Amino acid sequence: MRFPDNFIEDLKRQADIVRVVQDYVPLKKAGTNWRAPCPFHKETKPSFNVNPAKEMFFCFGCHKGGTVFNFIMEMERVTFPEAIKIVAEKAGVPLPRMIENDRFEARQRDSDQVIELNQWALAWWQDQLQSKAATSVRYYLKERGITEETSKTFCLGFAPDSWEALSTHLRQKGATQEQLEKSGLVVKKDEGGSYDRFRGRVIFPVFDVQGKPIAFGGRTLDPDGDPKYLNSPETPAYTKGRNLYGLNLTRDEIRRQGFAILVEGYLDLIVPYQHGVRNIVASLGTALTPEQVKLIVRFADKVLVNYDGDRAGVAAAKRAIETILAENIEVKVLVLPDNTDPDDFIRKHGVDEYNRRRTEAQPHIQFVIDQAVRDRNLNTPTDKAAAVEETLPFIRALPRGIQKREYFDIAMDGLRVQRDQRRELWQQVRGASTDRAAVQKVFVRTERPTVAEEKLLGLLVANDELRNIILPRLEPSDYDGLATAAIFRALKDLGTEKKEITYEALSEATADNGVAAEILPRILISEPAESFDESLTDANSCLDALRLMKLDREIDELTTQIAEADRAADTELRDRLVMKKLGLSKQRGNFLPPHGKAGN
Ligand SMILES: [Zn+2]
Repeated sequence: MRFPDNFIEDLKRQADIVRVVQDYVPLKKAGTNWRAPCPFHKETKPSFNVNPAKEMFFCFGCHKGGTVFNFIMEMERVTFPEAIKIVAEKAGVPLPRMIENDRFEARQRDSDQVIELNQWALAWWQDQLQSKAATSVRYYLKERGITEETSKTFCLGFAPDSWEALSTHLRQKGATQEQLEKSGLVVKKDEGGSYDRFRGRVIFPVFDVQGKPIAFGGRTLDPDGDPKYLNSPETPAYTKGRNLYGLNLTRDEIRRQGFAILVEGYLDLIVPYQHGVRNIVASLGTALTPEQVKLIVRFADKVLVNYDGDRAGVAAAKRAIETILAENIEVKVLVLPDNTDPDDFIRKHGVDEYNRRRTEAQPHIQFVIDQAVRDRNLNTPTDKAAAVEETLPFIRALPRGIQKREYFDIAMDGLRVQRDQRRELWQQVRGASTDRAAVQKVFVRTERPTVAEEKLLGLLVANDELRNIILPRLEPSDYDGLATAAIFRALKDLGTEKKEITYEALSEATADNGVAAEILPRILISEPAESFDESLTDANSCLDALRLMKLDREIDELTTQIAEADRAADTELRDRLVMKKLGLSKQRGNFLPPHGKAGN
């Protein structure tokens, strides 16, 4: 879209910069200039100057300055063409036909019409809320803890339970049937005509950033009503996922604090707002879109995601985090206890407790890790692979390399990933894509059975007498975490049940285990050693090797935990872990030299 050449200069002249700025800043005359504390940086003395003769503003504190358009761009965080439109509107100058852009014009006209109808509808619904018929509705709002003042601030209304009351009102105001249908305020009937979309519902208007009503949400008052919230369809004035609820009221506070609290629903925003939490926006049900994040970026570079604590809320929060990270914004996450949302929580525990909880919000990566390890056992390679796979997209979403590495290390510490596996995963993070198979491979490959495992199993399977000696000495901790753990477990179980060790019995007991399926035939056909004594010596040294491997795994694990404690600057934990590692290293020393011992 392009404005004719002279228009911008003419508009600048016609728009009185003092009057436009005064909409935002309380200017006071001082000589030829007008002055106020600067809206763009924190100060109490007035360094912000507007000079009407030069049609300029300038701040001696933060050195921001320019024309009325620059002021609006900075204040409203809009592009130059949008700033022109806002200034024109404020100055009462009609916008010229844009050059080579008829379609945009037509859409703009449609959009303006829808907004006008929305304004009429909203004013009427607000009146209805004050009517006698709406006594129970006002009672409902009071029950939810919403004061009359808040109800006015958010322009809440009531749509009576009627098929045509609103349509009739809008027709009387001059709306045509075509306009009614375009506005989405009515639903078209197949046989022609239409009926009111919102009936018997509390109306929550959705405003754009400039405060124009672009859509509505209607909450049913019937406890069995379905859907609980009914929303406007898309119209020329409203595209889903392009707006954030509440931003028209909260953007200044968001700008001032440099961060925004992101919640899900209407009341999740309204209730905290009423209690003084004013740097808050709501994404309204649908998944957070990049456009919505870009809206936040205009005003803040930090976001606190505070969605519902239930499973759906957590899933939505995770999707939102991924979208936010891509815009280079710092994200923290607050999950309130007992699956509550901000609305419930504040009504139950008060706003002070809410604010206290906010200070304990987790960095996003910690939230992602917590979710990934929930219901999983990091000691099993498949679970660990799944947890890593779930976490990597959140690292990949980060736009900057340094950040990527930093969060990658935190995640790998949190998920207790060993060094060599990290190296491979890091290659994957930096590469084009991480597919499930690639992540699985990193963990499952280290799950190959070792020579000692396979040899010990072969000996145990081949010799009943040997089995009777070794099996009782074999602790679950000796084989847990090994590739062949399932086979050892099966041998133990079959031994306890005094069952015969056959290929069929072992296969059945290790069903679905890939490693077992692969090596069982090999173990069962292996040749037993010449003498029993030789077999026993071999079995003992294999068992030593297994225990040595276990100690190595534990030492590795401790090394990772020590690094984690270092990172968290938890010296007490670190010292405890170091002592533990020392103990294990000593134990490990007692096994050495393994060859000498095996030769005894
Ligand atoms: Zn300033």
